[in-house]
Amino acid sequence: MNTNQPSAGVASYVPVQGYSNGFGAGSAMGHWDESIFGSELMTPRLNAGANNLSSISVGLLNDLGYNVDYSGSLSGASSDPGRRFNISISFSGTEANRQTFESYFLEAASFWERYIYSGAFTNGDSSDLTIYASMFYSESLVLGSAGPTAGLTNTNRTAFQASEGVVNLNSYYYTPESLRDPTRSVAFTATIRHEIGHVLGIGTFWPNGSLYGVGEPTSTSSSTFADYAFIGANAVREYNALITDNTYSAPTSLLAPGESNTALR
Ligand SMILES: [Zn+2]
Repeated sequence: MNTNQPSAGVASYVPVQGYSNGFGAGSAMGHWDESIFGSELMTPRLNAGANNLSSISVGLLNDLGYNVDYSGSLSGASSDPGRRFNISISFSGTEANRQTFESYFLEAASFWERYIYSGAFTNGDSSDLTIYASMFYSESLVLGSAGPTAGLTNTNRTAFQASEGVVNLNSYYYTPESLRDPTRSVAFTATIRHEIGHVLGIGTFWPNGSLYGVGEPTSTSSSTFADYAFIGANAVREYNALITDNTYSAPTSLLAPGESNTALR
């Protein structure tokens, strides 16, 4: 039970994961609070089973300035070039890697395209956002990294639109062999969607003034505290709409095989 959890319908912010419960750099400050939003796609930990995108994350995109469809029912942007927000994938790697992994990146790109009409600043290029995707191999705890490498913002940094980004993932955790397991395939699908969420700006571009408060350590060793909170109006509205009976309904968070608390996601 998170004591910061608000009563139904009265939240003034959406809790962001801080340096609590073992989360450190790379996880803290870049995701929704795991203890509250467990199975949501943009929490720091991959969950067994479903990792669904909530309207809170769509609301965050809306707060960044993207024009969105909250139901995610848009058709693929490739069917409407020149008008809809396009995400293209530039995959580099071996041919064997490409055959195994590229389809997951393409699926995830079209997944997000179903939610986004346009960005805050431009729309209608043949490719609004290009994501450079690759797989690396490392027998380490690092699952991968992702984020925007170029984008547009305004003077006050209240809006953001990604134009280029990278997603690099460790094939130590997701091998071509392991992806034949449907459970691992579902987990990889969620992972790629999650990483592209970071490229779009979720957890990587917080609008100016959106994080504040008291409550959690400001680092793993710090005795000072902050409560990381996103106050974007659209995300907060969607959060309030999902709170019933003082709880956000989500299954218990579980580690997937091969994951660890310290794995970046
Ligand atoms: Zn992440």
